[in-house]
Amino acid sequence: MPASEVIRTGTDPSGRPILMSRRMAAWWERVCEALGFTPTIVQGAWMSKVPGGGADASAGYHDRGGCLDLRVWDLTDEQVRKVIRVTREYGAASWKRDLAHGGMDEHIHFVLGSDFALSSGAEIQWEDYIDGRDGLSTKGRDYHWRPEPLVLIPPAPTRSLKKKITAAIVDAKDRGLTAAADRLRKIRDGLRP
Ligand SMILES: [Zn+2]
Repeated sequence: MPASEVIRTGTDPSGRPILMSRRMAAWWERVCEALGFTPTIVQGAWMSKVPGGGADASAGYHDRGGCLDLRVWDLTDEQVRKVIRVTREYGAASWKRDLAHGGMDEHIHFVLGSDFALSSGAEIQWEDYIDGRDGLSTKGRDYHWRPEPLVLIPPAPTRSLKKKITAAIVDAKDRGLTAAADRLRKIRDGLRP
């Protein structure tokens, strides 16, 4: 099963299939794990494969890979900030769109730049993000927190590393090295999911 294979992960609130690459689906799971909650996806990627196509306001960004839209009305302001921060820390260009930013209904739009086969519009948005812009046609400054340095490739999953550290904790405890086990536990618990 190639990582680029487009799979259906669910159904959006409009009843359309939510599509994305296998790699992006695994990435989204990690993001939700890091968030501690699961935002509602209101539009997936690969809308060109969905009967009826993408939303007009999306100007083709969602026709191919890398782009998702999230609902915000059921999130607190703090949760919205966290979604922007975590998606950016995990290598996506994310923005909250609203009347003031793009003249759109409120939602979070993002582009995972390292996903397969972005549409040309999504490629341009990704480049805008790298250049410190807001990804809108008016080419304004980015208006959210930016990681320093910018994260262009998602950080490697740490699950296997955590398992190794857990084994080392058990080993240290067996040898009576309590202080070492405590330090290892702190390191493990500080790793991102
Ligand atoms: Zn979008």
